Amino acid sequence: MRSADPSLADPALWDSPAARRAGAVLSIDLGAIRENYRRLQAELGATPCAAVCKADAYGLGLGDVAPALAAEGATQFFVATLDEAIALRGILAEPCPAAEIHVLNGLMPGCEGDYLAHRLRPVLNSLGDIEAWARRAAAEGRALPAAVHLDSGMCRLGLPPRELDRLAAEPERLSGIEVALLMSHLACAEDREGPMNARQLADFRAALTRLPRAPASLANSPGVFLGPDYHFDLARPGVALYGVNPLPGKPNPMVQVVGLKARILQVREIDAPQSVGYGADYRAGGPMRVATLGVGYADGYLRSLSDKGSAFIAGQRVAVIGRVSMDLITLDVTDVPPAQARPGGIVDLLDPEQGPDRLADEAGTIGYEILTALGRRYHRVYSGA
Ligand SMILES: *Cc1c(COP(=O)(O)O)cnc(C)c1O
Repeated sequence: MRSADPSLADPALWDSPAARRAGAVLSIDLGAIRENYRRLQAELGATPCAAVCKADAYGLGLGDVAPALAAEGATQFFVATLDEAIALRGILAEPCPAAEIHVLNGLMPGCEGDYLAHRLRPVLNSLGDIEAWARRAAAEGRALPAAVHLDSGMCRLGLPPRELDRLAAEPERLSGIEVALLMSHLACAEDREGPMNARQLADFRAALTRLPRAPASLANSPGVFLGPDYHFDLARPGVALYGVNPLPGKPNPMVQVVGLKARILQVREIDAPQSVGYGADYRAGGPMRVATLGVGYADGYLRSLSDKGSAFIAGQRVAVIGRVSMDLITLDVTDVPPAQARPGGIVDLLDPEQGPDRLADEAGTIGYEILTALGRRYHRVYSGA
């Protein structure tokens, strides 16, 4: 028997007008996010644990998630864009006024004043970023804090080796900048046996010896589990906080955070040679019953789950048949007792047993994409703050 989703155990959630209007309820367990933060912190020992909250806290809602993480002791936060950082400063103004908020995408040209006004730390990704921030510091007449990102093999953001050479030869380029963090990012941390981690670790260590001493950071979620060599002075997990398995192929050390339930809109009985949905490419082989849910690819239920996804009615697996459409999916409920597979009946799309990782496997993607795709039409219920 599959365990009930405790965050939605209360049927009153389903009878609220907002839940009925939406047709589907997304539950987000803030207590589970806090538990995951504690587990990551335990794995890190004395090394502090930052919280990566980009993309609206991986789709789960920055406004609720960030205060929960702050309540658990997080003081260092990373987001991608300047807009996200400004929003986060507002969210944390009361619960965590001293939070340090880093903008991973760097220093947006012409926006230097915004970083100052909101006390944000740009992650300086190039000599150009460094020059612009140093110039601003000179104009302000005081040292300005920032992180500096050194590219150790991702070839995406950060100073490439040639720019590191120049910075090492001309450290005065950093004058006026309080380097609060030297960071790099792992490309293959979830591949524990692969050679890339050790190579990036060695390159990052070598780079650190060439620059003025500063706190260092390398590990993302899977990196936390690569051991103390990878921890340095600060870890930067994101997805593991939100329940996605940082150790693919191994038991998930994190607890599930999201649940998604939808009500059946209609059930119909069909028979061969009828077909279901767009393209008519699901064809009934005989008498069967089909239930329709009001969730589709516009809600982040990915179209690649057509004829592949699994859902559950009172713990019994039912298959998505036919194509996922914008607002609807269709399920084969032939084997479910009609008392359960009825209009208004409840179907689990994400629950403690089918988390984002399993749905991602069926969709041919990763849990990160399942979370960040979660749509805006669901009625959202936050529990366990
Ligand atoms: C997204 C991101 C992280 C967090 O990665 P997860 O795999 O979600 O833990 C850490 N550091 C940087 C630079 C990132 O872009």
